[in-house]
Amino acid sequence: MPEFERISEHIYMMHAEHDTDRPMLAAVVGHSRTLLIDGGNSSAHAAAFRDYLEKEGVRPPDVMVLTHHHWDHSFGLAEWSLPTIAQKKTAEILRGFAELEWNADTVGRLVAESVISERTKNDMLAEYGGDLTRIRVEEPNIVFERFIDVHLGGLTCEIRYVGGDHAEDSCVVYVKEEGTLFLGDALAQSVYGGPMKYTTGKFLALLDTVFAYGANVLVESHGRPVSREEFYGDVRRYELLARQVLRHGRNPEAVETDLRSELGLAENEALPEDLAEAIGYFMNGLEK
Ligand SMILES: [Zn+2]
Repeated sequence: MPEFERISEHIYMMHAEHDTDRPMLAAVVGHSRTLLIDGGNSSAHAAAFRDYLEKEGVRPPDVMVLTHHHWDHSFGLAEWSLPTIAQKKTAEILRGFAELEWNADTVGRLVAESVISERTKNDMLAEYGGDLTRIRVEEPNIVFERFIDVHLGGLTCEIRYVGGDHAEDSCVVYVKEEGTLFLGDALAQSVYGGPMKYTTGKFLALLDTVFAYGANVLVESHGRPVSREEFYGDVRRYELLARQVLRHGRNPEAVETDLRSELGLAENEALPEDLAEAIGYFMNGLEK
């Protein structure tokens, strides 16, 4: 079931749903303009959020920004008919997608080419009721490279290109006056183009960038909004892990042993599953 929430005076959200890989969508509402963060994975996804905003009497979005090109964030774009801001690579990739004739064969070919994954194909089938010819992709029309600020009247959204392992075009959106940082999927591991991976250099650089904002609330697209304390507590474990990988290289046993001792785990206590998985991703990210 879709779940909606006004997370602050100026920010409305539709939370992520995991069944068909819907990320969260957010509307940042200033005195004179509303910015939509991500378009959704389909017309149905987009329409559900638009209906909620309408019902709340919120000023409808005037402009949209895409955090990166992945289908779940961008395929709802056409439903909104809005000026859309995107990083240059996001725009290039979506231009390519917009030229495709979408159907089961096309999606099958994209899976074979590792542009998307089998899991993505299944999520698309579920979201589009089994009919992939219903997919409509449009390209964004406001393109930036490093930074762009959007002034909404009393609120400024700073959009910044950060890249990283998950997608080469990842951007974050900082709502300055509220101290809320939307991370998109930037901190996640890579999901396409071969085994899932994290590279230590990219991951640690990205953490530095994120920490430098000193945000009060942080929102990952497939998670829930969290306080700075919660976020740092969670992410610090990955930072420790990345540093052990720098130290030990391709020696997952040594990485795990030292990570366990840094986390203060007792001998009979299992390493949390997400970290055990992440060790594998970091190993995949090491140079051969
Ligand atoms: Zn993504």
